[in-house]
Amino acid sequence: MWNRRLESLDRESIKKIQLERLKLTVRRLYENVPFYRSAFKSRGVSPDDIRSLDDLKRLPMVSKHDLRENYPFGLLAVPREECVRVHASSGTTGKPTLVLYTREDLQNWTEIMCRCLYMSGLRRGDVFQVTPGYGLFTGGLGFHYGGEAIGATVVPTGTGNTERQINLMRDLGTTMIAGIASYALHIAEVASEMGVDVKKDLQVRKGIFGAEAWSDSMMKKISDVWDMDCHDIYGMSEMYGPGVGCNCSHGEGLHIWEDHFIVEIIDPSTGEPLGPEEEGEVVLTSLTKTAMPMLRFRTRDMSKLLDTNGCECGRTHQRIARIKGRCDDAFSINGVKVFPGQVEYVLMKYPEVGMNYQLVVEKAGALDQLTVLVEANCKSPQDDSAKSLEKVLFRDLRTILGFQPRVRVLPPMSIERRDGKARRVLDLRMK
Ligand SMILES: [Zn+2]
Repeated sequence: MWNRRLESLDRESIKKIQLERLKLTVRRLYENVPFYRSAFKSRGVSPDDIRSLDDLKRLPMVSKHDLRENYPFGLLAVPREECVRVHASSGTTGKPTLVLYTREDLQNWTEIMCRCLYMSGLRRGDVFQVTPGYGLFTGGLGFHYGGEAIGATVVPTGTGNTERQINLMRDLGTTMIAGIASYALHIAEVASEMGVDVKKDLQVRKGIFGAEAWSDSMMKKISDVWDMDCHDIYGMSEMYGPGVGCNCSHGEGLHIWEDHFIVEIIDPSTGEPLGPEEEGEVVLTSLTKTAMPMLRFRTRDMSKLLDTNGCECGRTHQRIARIKGRCDDAFSINGVKVFPGQVEYVLMKYPEVGMNYQLVVEKAGALDQLTVLVEANCKSPQDDSAKSLEKVLFRDLRTILGFQPRVRVLPPMSIERRDGKARRVLDLRMK
């Protein structure tokens, strides 16, 4: 563990820290941020009403919409002059959402990044290549400062230029990479086109991936393709960035750092908190952020609290299931809800399936039709094997989805990519 004392606190101590910090956060927001003060008043609660963690559910929730409405400085709880950094996430609907950091915030972020990176195997002496974007996006700099604090040799390539990434990996003897899961598969594809065998010619044996939902079977696929120990890191710019939680090498799911965050799962349609093992939307409250604390932030990510007692790794922090997808990514086919992750789970179980797939949704007369396009890997170009792969995928997908999709197996590299990422869902119904 990076921070043995804090990572293995007993549950009582964690709850005590959470309540103390929650009270403080609520009071600071009430006193300094008009948006929160009026939200508290309209719900008839004041900071004095927070006496137990159970009182959390009386507090208002915030969403990305509120961040946009209060752009750029409306949610600041400190004078702007105390902020030493700005990050932003690109909004698909115009204005970006902005997050600001005090020096203390950056120290806290680095601390939780260290815990996640150490949990994923990063050590002093490693060559750590950071492939997420630097700049306004939180990915690059989050991994960067965590890696430096651990004492690894950080290679700040940032995103893009995949051939150069691969050359640097080979020349510097990179041992661990950070990135987006689908990009790890893209790198492997490009490497093979360059005649580089990622298993034999590179020394990358550890990886930490985040920023998109990816299934257990995709994790296994990346492990197999790279001969790599893979870890899943969770986070978002509103909660510092990556580093909110990470999966250890023992139990299932992700440990969430509960001395920095309170995690709730709610029913996305009613907002009611759900119990352990009940699937719903992840809602996070920050406990240590000073510039822009977030109260009950609706992440739109789908997961569940795992009903577990401790973990073999010795960490005591609550685990949640790996993120299943975003509430917004789910689409419905003739009234049946489909998560892209369910389909990915089936596809990635088969070694004959290549790196990419796409779900195409369209109208066939009055009904919705789902077509699953799948790239075969290089070893199965024959018509016969494509047909038999289509058959088994159809059978498995029908079982997991509860209706009959169409399945088409295509040659490698035939699905269009943008910046190395395939578009997972193409919904043509509205056009
Ligand atoms: Zn664990």
